[in-house]
Amino acid sequence: MIDHAELYARALLVAPGGVQSPVRAFHSVGGLPIFMERGSGAALTDVMGRTYIDFCQSFGPLLLGHCDPDIRAVVAEALDDGWTYGCCEPYSLALAEWITSQVPWAEQIRFVSSGTEAVMSALRVARAATGRTKVLKFDGCYHGHADAMLVRAGSGLAGQAVASSDGVSPAVAAETLVAALDDDRELDRIFDAHGTEIAAAIVEPLPANYGLLPQRTEWLTGLADRCRRSGALLIFDEVISGFRVGKTGMAGRLGIRPDLVTFGKVIGGGFPVGAYAGRKVLMERVAPAGKVYQAGTLSANPIGMRAGLASLRKFERMGGWDDLDARGAAFCAQLADGFQGLRQPLDVVRDGSIFWIHLHTDTPIRRPDCIPKGHAEWFAAFFHAAIARGVYLPPSPYEVGFLSLAHDAETLATAAWALIAAAREADPA
Ligand code: PMP
Repeated sequence: MIDHAELYARALLVAPGGVQSPVRAFHSVGGLPIFMERGSGAALTDVMGRTYIDFCQSFGPLLLGHCDPDIRAVVAEALDDGWTYGCCEPYSLALAEWITSQVPWAEQIRFVSSGTEAVMSALRVARAATGRTKVLKFDGCYHGHADAMLVRAGSGLAGQAVASSDGVSPAVAAETLVAALDDDRELDRIFDAHGTEIAAAIVEPLPANYGLLPQRTEWLTGLADRCRRSGALLIFDEVISGFRVGKTGMAGRLGIRPDLVTFGKVIGGGFPVGAYAGRKVLMERVAPAGKVYQAGTLSANPIGMRAGLASLRKFERMGGWDDLDARGAAFCAQLADGFQGLRQPLDVVRDGSIFWIHLHTDTPIRRPDCIPKGHAEWFAAFFHAAIARGVYLPPSPYEVGFLSLAHDAETLATAAWALIAAAREADPA
């Protein structure tokens, strides 16, 4: 029988680090990656035939779980019509109409094939619309791997950044400013120093790529105000939160209207889809209506468009937002209860169907430098103890877990029991 070690050895010969995307390599949890062969509902099955309750859910796109029968039927029907035309078609129109009718600040939308592309294109629109070149991002947010976003805070002047990846030109990195989340004074300093140069500030309104770091509404409102006052655009990156935390995403919940918004993940129902959207006057800068060039051979791929719309409609019909919020609350309460009495206490942070478990802190964590020391080491032990009990968490201390409508009460009770046992095993003696 083929095992994980054999597949990984082969993969190392043909792919950098043996993987097609870095987190899949298990580098931050140790051990060999598990090769999965099949997904169904809340479960993943590996090549050895072992089944796990899956809270990674492909890092978020699957509101209905793996291989939902209704979406499968839609995809099967779509396949009969061919899978890419490179022409105008009614499927992206239907999804565009659905999204723009739900989200008032998304007056026009352009589909692309990933969240990275969505962000990259939104930034280009912002630069074109403002005639400015700098963008402001926040330490602890992830926006995909466009060069301008692969930067981290540098030492020295307010907001100045350095590349966080080899291969990013210093000239590109110098156009990005980086600030800390949850810090009003830092916002003041950066807008005082650079306000008139900033084309856009981009933020995950619910940062979910460095753990789950819910922000104070006043801080986000403050950011929006400073953008407005300085003539910078505000971009909400809702690639994770869009249509997951609610039908109008974080922007709807916060009552903050971003100028541009990026979507991805759930809007493609598990197929490669991203999108950027915003006010008509901004979006009409995009070619062929305007002079901001952006195009894609497989953009608005009909399979993804049909799967995405069918998923969103089914989720809405099933009352998915309220239902997953209730399931998430019960699941996380059960975890928190079971984590009582550990020598190294744990906290469970949750927003709707998104959750993150971390070493206890006295106050909510709103920025990465407040994550307790030792969290990564603790998580590695917890992750492997969970795997041994048939629960697959995203393989990184900083990735969040996702619930889908396939995670029913019985599955969640089983998973909670396993995670509580895993936490006891990972608890230092
Ligand atoms: N923005 C956010 C907030 C994301 O979480 C991600 C991916 N996790 C991206 C952008 C990039 O999306 P993709 O991986 O589809 O390029």
